[in-house]
Amino acid sequence: MNIVICADFPFANECADALRPFMSHATISTRDRDLREVTRNAVPADYALVWMPPPELFVEHSKLRAIFTLGAGVDALLKQSTLPSQVPLIRLEDAGMAQPMAEYVLIAALRARWRMGAYAKHQRAHRWQRETVAAREQSPVGVLGLGAIGAHIARTLVAHGFAVRGFSRSAKSIDGVETFAGQARAGDPGFDRFIDGLALVVNVLPSTPETAHVLGRAAFAQMADGAHVVNVGRGAAIDDHALVEAIDAGKLAGATLDVFQTEPLPSDHPFWSRPEIEITPHISGVTPVEPAMKQIAEKIARLERGSPVSGVVDRARGY
Ligand code: NAP
Repeated sequence: MNIVICADFPFANECADALRPFMSHATISTRDRDLREVTRNAVPADYALVWMPPPELFVEHSKLRAIFTLGAGVDALLKQSTLPSQVPLIRLEDAGMAQPMAEYVLIAALRARWRMGAYAKHQRAHRWQRETVAAREQSPVGVLGLGAIGAHIARTLVAHGFAVRGFSRSAKSIDGVETFAGQARAGDPGFDRFIDGLALVVNVLPSTPETAHVLGRAAFAQMADGAHVVNVGRGAAIDDHALVEAIDAGKLAGATLDVFQTEPLPSDHPFWSRPEIEITPHISGVTPVEPAMKQIAEKIARLERGSPVSGVVDRARGY
């Protein structure tokens, strides 16, 4: 069996090293995203493990039995013109990303609840001023997207005493979470009930045509005054202009953003100069190599036996 791994270096090599113990019978070659060959393997690969590969990869390897993404999101890969339409595309399911992402969200939620942003402002003004911390049941937090990662984030917030709502396309049941279902857009009855009066919203939706700008002017208007926005999903979910407008108008207290419409965030983007916006460079859910390779190796073994695997992307839905 031949496997090609195409990603940034040294990540691609780290993946190959971690995969080998699980797949001693396979020949594993690695390529960086510029397609410079690093370990030689002239044979067409059976499986490709990829992160933002160049179009040439799928032309060169035209006999693939499955394509694995080295992340949970597939939005960029689905835009790839040479992506073969009949080959199953399989994404990572949690694979160790959900826990760090839940920690990231928990930090943001606790800081927002304790109004730490307001204290930072008071400190800059040398002002000794106390803020009110609202009762938890009066300041619900909401998780947009209850998949492998969103469900874990929701449970983590419940475990820390937050009143938690969750939203997904299909109905879900998660202990301690008030769940709503529908299309993620203002005006959808389920979405409107979910967003109404939220003190904090966390986006962990995949980027699809349906989820673009779900957090825009209408959604912000429905949230509680002084609410906070956290984005660990994809940048396209937020209408950047509406977010800045809502912060400047005092409707939103602030935002904690890990993902952006353009990454790296352009140096002239208005987010940089807003002290109410915390910016991190897409670090909340970096793929952990060992668990990711273990998951992929198990799925390849199942595919080789002819058994079904989970995490196959529904291309029509876009995730
Ligand atoms: P997942 O398991 O596919 O879950 C996606 C969730 O979103 C599901 O609950 C789905 O509803 C819901 N959803 C999708 N489209 C919707 C719509 N139009 N309206 C309402 N709900 C919708 O994905 P995941 O593994 O949790 O990952 C989610 C996203 O997080 C990824 O796609 C990726 O973009 C992002 N991510 C970011 C980082 C980072 O470093 N910041 C790391 C990993 C992942 P159903 O359950 O009904 O299908």
